[in-house]
Formats: sequence, structure tokens, C-alpha cells
Amino acid sequence: MALLEIENLNVTFNTRHGKVTALDSVSMHVNAGETLGVVGESGCGKSITALSVMGLIPMPPGRIAGGEIRLNGENLVTASDARMRQLRGAEVAMIFQEPMTSLNPVFTVGDQIAEAIMLHQNVSADRAFKDAVALLDRVGIPSPDSRARNYPHQLSGGMRQRVMIAMAVSCRPKVLIADEPTTALDVTVQAQIFDLLNEIQRDFGAAIIMITHDMGAISEMADRVAVMYAGRVIEEARADDVLDTPQHPYARGLISCIPALGKDDTELREIPGVVPPLHMLGAGCAFADRCDYAQERCRREKPALVNHGHHPAACHAVEEGRI
Ligand code: SF4
Ligand code: MG
Repeated sequence: MALLEIENLNVTFNTRHGKVTALDSVSMHVNAGETLGVVGESGCGKSITALSVMGLIPMPPGRIAGGEIRLNGENLVTASDARMRQLRGAEVAMIFQEPMTSLNPVFTVGDQIAEAIMLHQNVSADRAFKDAVALLDRVGIPSPDSRARNYPHQLSGGMRQRVMIAMAVSCRPKVLIADEPTTALDVTVQAQIFDLLNEIQRDFGAAIIMITHDMGAISEMADRVAVMYAGRVIEEARADDVLDTPQHPYARGLISCIPALGKDDTELREIPGVVPPLHMLGAGCAFADRCDYAQERCRREKPALVNHGHHPAACHAVEEGRI
């Protein structure tokens, strides 16, 4: 049994366009000590998947319409709000992409971490603050004693992200979800944060779910990868397999967007076109409008996630050996 298993998760939202399917039979799992990369452009359902695990989908307008999310066998979809409050932070924790909006500007960072500790552990405020300072030290913040007394705006972006990580791991969660944790940071700081997450994982044995639009981050961090497109998982395998032999045209496109190492090629490549809005999804493959391999069948029939030789991919061209 995997530590966290998501099985056939369906999430719908009521919108002004009517009911849309944000997640369509999404399945993925992560084992203890492993990093699962969830990759795709924005609007593919990565963050909705993360929020579902955290029990933070706004309901309404959102609704989990089917499927299970099992943490150590316990189904979180049917867990009570009280149970989810217990689990959140203590067993599953999340690092959000923009620390400035998830840290409270009117409290010092030490107090905020201490607060998170006291929420789940029966310790004094003094003890919690000391633990917070130790955590700031652990995540590589210099002079943690005085930094603990700083407000978020007094820290650099990289330091704020370290504070978020300290807060997220303060109760030693089994599953740590990192949603685009380095998007706002420059490349050097980004690499430092990846190193830190890897170290923390070694120390604590946590499973990490790393959400990103960047295949480069996947190659740095992930053991396995689920590629998402328009609310579905369209390819899933070991990270090496996806990076070396991507199957789905979308996965191939994301990989061709990784800047070539050592090349003085700063031109940012992108896959032409955009993810279709959820209310515009038709009967066929959601990638058809952007796909060089699209044929008539693609517009009619949704491809299933099946292993056609290498590893699971949801594509008719792969199935038919046209690609
Ligand atoms: Fe392209 Fe068709 Fe494969 Fe979709 S199913 S990715 S449209 S070839
Ligand atoms: Mg997102």
C-alpha cells in the first residue's frame, strides 16, 4: 500500500458556464521517502489535486464528485472537517507558491511557526518558539534567533520560502506538498531550495508531492512523474523514463521546453496554444487543438491512460504507433 493514494478522483466546479469537470478520474500515488512530480501548465488541475488532498477545495462551488484519497488507508474524501483539521499540518502539509500571501504580515515569522507547532503539539509557547528558532536554523536561515523576530516583509523571497518550509515541516508531516515552491525565485535560490527539500526528505523520510510547470524542476527533484493536462493524468512513469522517452505529445513538448544545458540559448520555448478552458472540453482528446499528430479519432474519443509499450500514456497516436 502506498502512503498516499489518489484513485479515480473527480472534482467538479459550478461556474457561470455551468458545471465543469476540474479533475477527471485522476489517479496517482506516492510512497514514503519518495518525490512525485506533478507537472503541467497552469489550469491543468495540479493545484486542485493538491487542494483536494489538503481538504481545502472550496465547497461550494467545488465538489468531490467521486473517487478516493487514501492516506495510510484512511479515505480523506469522507473524513470529517474536524478530522481534516487534525491531519492538516500534522500528517499532510503544503508549501504554497507565494509565501508573501500565505504568511501573515502582522506576526513575526518565529511566532507564526510557533503557532503552527502549538496547533498540533501540546507544548508551551516558550518551547514552541525555541523549536521555531531551531527550525529556522535547520532550513538554513542565518542568525535564526534574531530572524525569528522579523516580520515577513523584512526577509528576502528566498528566506520567506525557507520560513514556509520550516512551518510546513514543523510537525513532521508524512506528506509534504510543494506547489510551485520556487516560481518566484531566481535560479540560484531555486537550486538551494531544491537542495533543502531533498535534505529535509532525507532527514524526515517525508513523501513529497512537487507541483510544477517546469520539467527542469522535475529532473532535479522527482523520482516519479504524473503529467497532467486539462484535468487528467496523461502520462505517468519514473522520472527518468518520462525525461528520456516521453510518450504523449504534450510530455514531449514540455521536455523540449527545458533550456538546453550549456547552450547559450536563452530563448524561452513554449508549446504553441493554450490549455482549453474546462467548459470548452469536448468528447475527444483535450490536446487535439495543439497536437501535430491529431487525427479524426482524437476529436471523437478520449484516449485512456494505458501502457502501450514504454509506460502509461493517454494518446491514440502512441497506441497506433504513429509517433
Ligand atoms: Fe494528439 Fe491524438 Fe494523442 Fe491527443 S490522442 S495527444 S490529439 S495524437
Ligand atoms: Mg497552480
